[in-house]
Amino acid sequence: MSEAVQQYLKEHEERLLKKLGDFLAIDSISTDPSKKESMDEAVVFLMDYLHEIGFDLVERRETGGHPLVYAEYSQAAEGAPTALFYGHYDVQPADPYELWETPPFSPAVRDGRLFARGASDDKGQVFMHLAVFEAMMQTEGRLPVNVKVIIEGEEEIGSENLYSFLEDNQELLKADFSLISDSGMVDKGIPTILYGLKGFTGLEVTVKGPDRDLHSGLYGGAVKNPAMALAQLLASMKNTEETVTVPGFYEGIETLTGEERKLMNEAPGEDYPVSTGIP
Ligand SMILES: [Zn+2]
Repeated sequence: MSEAVQQYLKEHEERLLKKLGDFLAIDSISTDPSKKESMDEAVVFLMDYLHEIGFDLVERRETGGHPLVYAEYSQAAEGAPTALFYGHYDVQPADPYELWETPPFSPAVRDGRLFARGASDDKGQVFMHLAVFEAMMQTEGRLPVNVKVIIEGEEEIGSENLYSFLEDNQELLKADFSLISDSGMVDKGIPTILYGLKGFTGLEVTVKGPDRDLHSGLYGGAVKNPAMALAQLLASMKNTEETVTVPGFYEGIETLTGEERKLMNEAPGEDYPVSTGIP
């Protein structure tokens, strides 16, 4: 980032923080059907800002659920790459409200940190990018790359409609790389590029046992106790190193290099071995 851009951001910090506060004050909770208006309000906030920054195309796109915001900037220099930027404007529910020191939708700064629902997931990150776009446009007159923006409203409910949007708009969304800022930094002041996350898999197991109490003297040891069988089953799925022992579980998964494992464990801000449980 050029010095002029940084200078601009410093000079406009107060106004930008206030604007971020306006975004955070919208209770766009995607799981709550009564918040439809708030979802619309967040969409309008984003569209207004993208227009204001100077995006050529800013659209509200309807999906089967909450709408998403799509925007394009294509005035970068000839031959400049195109970045696809993703973020989400919906937030997690904020209850129980009584546990909040300050109300979740009344942004407040404490000890140099901004507290509000969505401040770090994902409104803060989304806003950071938009503010930098603004600063670049205002100081340099253009962005260094072409940018396509998708900001959806269903990340906290599984992005169900995003998949079909991606499927239906493959041509539109073509880009040289995509950039997602929906995660944290390992520590304050340490920019972090996250390029892999653990996933999860779920299954339901039913263990059936006898339908009546069995006499221990007659059946003990011969008939399995369902609670014990379940405990044994679960315990057999992972070893003491937290590695999943189910055959084939790691098939097709890239292993960490020694260097990656070292870097992960050296990263500040975590007090547990983050590379545990990865082959
Ligand atoms: Zn998120």
